[in-house]
Order: sequence, then C-alpha cells, then structure tokens
Amino acid sequence: MSNPKTTPVLIGGVAVNPYESLEQLLADVIDSSGKVVPGMAIAINPEKVLKAQSDPQTHDILAQATIPFADGIGVVKALQKKTGKKCIRIAGCELWLDILQHSITHQSKVVLIGAKPKVIAQCNGILTDKKVNVVAYQDGYFNDEVVIFDLIQQTTPDIVIVALGSPKQEKLIAKLRETHSDSLYMGVGGSFDVLAGNVKRAPEIWQKMNLEWFYRLMSEPTRIKRQFQLLNFLKQYLTNKL
Ligand code: UDP
Repeated sequence: MSNPKTTPVLIGGVAVNPYESLEQLLADVIDSSGKVVPGMAIAINPEKVLKAQSDPQTHDILAQATIPFADGIGVVKALQKKTGKKCIRIAGCELWLDILQHSITHQSKVVLIGAKPKVIAQCNGILTDKKVNVVAYQDGYFNDEVVIFDLIQQTTPDIVIVALGSPKQEKLIAKLRETHSDSLYMGVGGSFDVLAGNVKRAPEIWQKMNLEWFYRLMSEPTRIKRQFQLLNFLKQYLTNKL
C-alpha cells in the first residue's frame, strides 16, 4: 500500500511540507518496498524563504523540491499557524544520515559530493563502516561540473548527497536533475564537516530550546547581518503575511 503524498503549504510563497513526524517524511523518501523515490529534498529555513522572495531563480529552484521540509523554527511556527497542526522541525544535518541509514537494507547506491578532500574521504570511511553503499565520492573543489555529470552517469546512484553550501548545492542539483532524474538528491550544507568531526553542532540543550541559530551566531559573529534580515521574516509572521 502506498502512502498518501504530503500536501505542501505555502510559507511566504515557498511550498513546505507540514511534516508531523520524521517517519512521515521518510515514507515520502523511501517507498513501502524499500525503493528510494527520485526527487529533491530541500531544507527550508526563514533565510531561504526571504531569499526566494527577492530572487526569482532561488524561488524557481525551491519550487522544484519534491520534499521541502521545515528546518528552522520560524518556518515551523508559520506552518503551525497556517495548518493548526503540530508540525516538527527536521534538521537537515540529521535527516541525510537517517535516509542513508534506511538505504542500507536495500543497499541503495549512494554518491557523496562536496567538502574538502580530507573531509569527504573521512565521511566515506565512516559511512562505509556503517555498511552504507557509497559507490563514489568527489570533493567540492572541482574545476568543471562535467566531473560530477560523468560520475553520476557512470554510477547511476539512487541517492546523491551534495554539500557545497547554499545556493551552490541547490543550483547544481537542479542542473543534475535535468539529465539524471532517477536519483534522490539532497543538499546538506556543512554537514560533511559535522560528520567528520571538524565542526561542532550546538549542544543538545540549545537544540531543544530552538536556539541552535543563536549558538551558530555566537560561534560565527559575521552571520549577524544575515540574522538581522530575519526580522523581516518575523514581521511577516506577526502580521500574517507569510
Ligand atoms: N564547499 C565546497 N565547495 C565550495 C564551497 C564550499 O565543497 O566551492 C563546502 C565547504 O567545504 C563546506 C560546505 O560546502 O563543507 C559549506 O558549508 P556551510 O556551512 O557554509 O553551508 P550552509 O550550511 O551555511 O549552507
């Protein structure tokens, strides 16, 4: 029996699936027979919603997501306000590992792209040790995208994880999907660095209090300009404009 597809809700003009559990999302990613459903999973946070409002290219790319999920407390709150349901935040840096964990049973083919050569090699080692079927990996400092297209062509993966940061990773994924639409793609930002142990996430207490963004701001004060822009999101939320 197939699962009914989750119906997206528009938040500030960007479609987001109002997931109420991780299992609900995973059912959209891996079908009941264990097969990976081709598409594109994108984490939607307030920053991306604001960018989409001012940049049509970003808007178009986000609109192509088949699994747009809320990764940011602002988007979760807006979803809850609109749907009246208890939607949850799903952290992209955890989700890709959940998806890969579920891919082990069927040995779905996985390609990893992004991060520094040492980091991606470490990630390959960690995931292969866990029995994830990584068929190829490529660091994120290639000169020509042809390298990536060739890699996908040769390995025909079920899952492609891309860690180049936004919007670079989303742009590459959109291009790859034009010629290789049989894979599930997910952009994961700096998550390879987290898995390799180079970058620490906020302690769990901060995550539980929905203050991971604040922790990140304190560790990278140069993000302050980006955070100020988020007041615009808050204003739209409070005035029911989202
Ligand atoms: N990166 C890359 N190639 C590039 C630029 C960046 O592989 O040309 C990698 C970088 O090594 C890091 C990730 O992309 O692992 C970017 O992480 P960041 O935290 O900046 O992304 P965000 O989560 O903020 O989108």
